[in-house]
Amino acid sequence: MRFVSTRGRSEPVGFFEAFAHGLAPDGGLYVPEALPSLPDCVAAGEVVPYADLAFEFLKLFDTDHAPEDLRALVDKSYANFAHPKTAPLRRLSDQLSVLELFHGPTLAFKDFGLQLVGNLFEDQIARTGQTINVLGATSGDTGSAAIHGLADKEGVNVFILYPKGRISPLQERQMTCTGAANIFPLPIEGSFDDAQSLVKELFGDLAFKNEARLSAVNSINLARVLAQSIYYLHAWLQLSAAEREDLTFVVPTGNFGNVFAGWLAQRMGLPAKRFVIATNQNDILYRLFNSGIYKTGAVEPSLAPSMDIQVASNFERFLYYLQEGDGAKVSEMMATVKAQGELEIPGFRADTFSATRTVDSGILENIANAWDRYGYVIDPHTACGFETGGGAGSGHRVVLSTAHPAKFPDTIEEAIGEHPTHPALEALKQKEQVRYEVAATAEAVSAFIRDHAA
Ligand SMILES: *Cc1c(COP(=O)(O)O)cnc(C)c1O
Repeated sequence: MRFVSTRGRSEPVGFFEAFAHGLAPDGGLYVPEALPSLPDCVAAGEVVPYADLAFEFLKLFDTDHAPEDLRALVDKSYANFAHPKTAPLRRLSDQLSVLELFHGPTLAFKDFGLQLVGNLFEDQIARTGQTINVLGATSGDTGSAAIHGLADKEGVNVFILYPKGRISPLQERQMTCTGAANIFPLPIEGSFDDAQSLVKELFGDLAFKNEARLSAVNSINLARVLAQSIYYLHAWLQLSAAEREDLTFVVPTGNFGNVFAGWLAQRMGLPAKRFVIATNQNDILYRLFNSGIYKTGAVEPSLAPSMDIQVASNFERFLYYLQEGDGAKVSEMMATVKAQGELEIPGFRADTFSATRTVDSGILENIANAWDRYGYVIDPHTACGFETGGGAGSGHRVVLSTAHPAKFPDTIEEAIGEHPTHPALEALKQKEQVRYEVAATAEAVSAFIRDHAA
């Protein structure tokens, strides 16, 4: 299998290269040259263990690894999930289920992608003999999932910038209490955007990027997207024949990563009927799917902080398919976004998607309603999916639950008066925190990386 750039001006590459580079040289994102059909076990409706399904799916795309090597990587990646079904489907009513994606090491769905990415990096380092340094910025979940994907791996050090005092204490502990010597959490003065722009500046300094052998773990990485398609198939296999007939996935989403992965599975043949894009008050996707206009905006902090995003990085992949693979057109459109912060997409069709928007008061209400109706506690991100997940509409709805409620205890307490806990989070409270304060300048951060590089 080869991968082409959404902007059409880079050479097709194999899996190893698409994974290692993230972004194509022409600035586009990698997509499969042609989409394969679903694995036989899915087509046959056969329920198989999660790791088996993941292997059958990923081997359609990763034809660079020998199958037995890929199998070992996949097994390792899903071994750290606490639930025997990895992504269990929890039925709340005849019309409604929740796909629990929070049984990984950091209790959020990003573990599905980043456990695999961590093992792929370790494999790449062993294959190429080149050590790497991973640099990223986080407002919470991505950084801790990346850290847990890479902790104690050979040949890689991880530097994660975050805004000091502006992420939740539990999220900070998830990053600072790993006890791993290759992990460097870097609190800086300022906002998440400040942390992000420092990271961008350092990646933009090509001399430093090459010297420090910098790698990223951002949400546009192909392996992350593919890893996320798998749980849609897994959910579908757990439904009854009647439920499979008329199925809607409701997906809390920020940058279009999670829901794009589901749509890709549908394009490969998964017979899901609809996808609901559930946004919080940072509603770029809601506006897009209701107007055909893609317009970035200013981020307003919400109770669902991991969706506080006003650029939809993975949207470029969807655009590529909308333009039927015309890279020149995608390039032009992305240039318009860059220059004007806005793009009107001619002839835009919402396709199989619809979108909802939930403001903070709605998040609190939805948490309370789910508790009253089903005795089930949902986290604030999942709550955005309950705007319509409470029963309206036909057929069966599967709401993707992207985080464990115990990660956001204050919001849950405000909504229902209960204080959710999780043993893994309680255990962190006893551990020593290791973090390195650096000045919020490119000079200070690059000097720190030079001194602590792998
Ligand atoms: C990252 C995240 C999301 C949004 O995922 P996207 O890939 O941006 O669509 C939703 N919920 C939680 C808990 C997250 O960590």
